[in-house]
Amino acid sequence: MTVPALQTKELFKSFGSFVATNGVDLTVAAGGRHALIGPNGAGKTTLINLLTGFLSATSGEIFLDGKDITALPQHQRVKRGLARTFQINRLFADMTVLESVAMAVGERRGFGARFWRPIGRFGDVLDEAAQLIERLKLTDVATRRTRDLAYGKQRLIEIALALAAQPRVLLLDEPAAGVPTSESRELFDTLAQLPADVTVLLIEHDMDLVFRFADRISVLVGGAVLLEGTPDMVATDPLVREVYLGEAQDV
Ligand code: ADP
Ligand code: MG
Repeated sequence: MTVPALQTKELFKSFGSFVATNGVDLTVAAGGRHALIGPNGAGKTTLINLLTGFLSATSGEIFLDGKDITALPQHQRVKRGLARTFQINRLFADMTVLESVAMAVGERRGFGARFWRPIGRFGDVLDEAAQLIERLKLTDVATRRTRDLAYGKQRLIEIALALAAQPRVLLLDEPAAGVPTSESRELFDTLAQLPADVTVLLIEHDMDLVFRFADRISVLVGGAVLLEGTPDMVATDPLVREVYLGEAQDV
């Protein structure tokens, strides 16, 4: 059996007396396109925060490529190939797409962010940045400032910045949040075309997008996994329909 890219065993997280993560066993296959769904307050973001190390687990274990990372701080997990997106900060907002991505590539290669200007001399950094930009279909806006771009494009830049670290596992918490429907499909189509060796675990509310993208879905309810299965299994499960899909249809 191949080693899962990411796995949790009996993972718990309490905030005081409130149990936000209630014994989660999650298995994300290497190269998987795995979606985490569930009603508001189900504990999806908390679970992602436990995986990245932003929050520490109350008990249980987390494995990355079969290695126990439960006790590792965030930056060590990043070093081992676990990446998440962050909102573009103001520094990036004033830079062009190419500058931003080149800086992230340069940082991974050990150039400090302060030395951005000399980086321009290193053609291979720019080449790698240009390739990433092309992969995320941002080539036509590469020389524009990120703050001037549509929100959907900005989310793609955030994903490009995360990919600059060359992660094996990418975690995305509602990548299409705030993105107009007209752009969200394009965003997900681009995500679907990421290299197969990058494992993706994402949270998404829009069921159309989830079913287009995911090959595996975990349904989280009340901090626990109600069901894990293929999109077909999840779509036809009566309990899921009652707890989650039924609710979504009422909105
Ligand atoms: P989801 O992302 O599925 O909507 P969250 O993981 O954000 O859910 O939250 C799950 C539950 O945990 C919610 O009831 C939320 O209020 C609670 N929670 C999340 N973070 C904290 C915190 N830092 N302190 C106390 N309660 C929290
Ligand atoms: Mg959330």
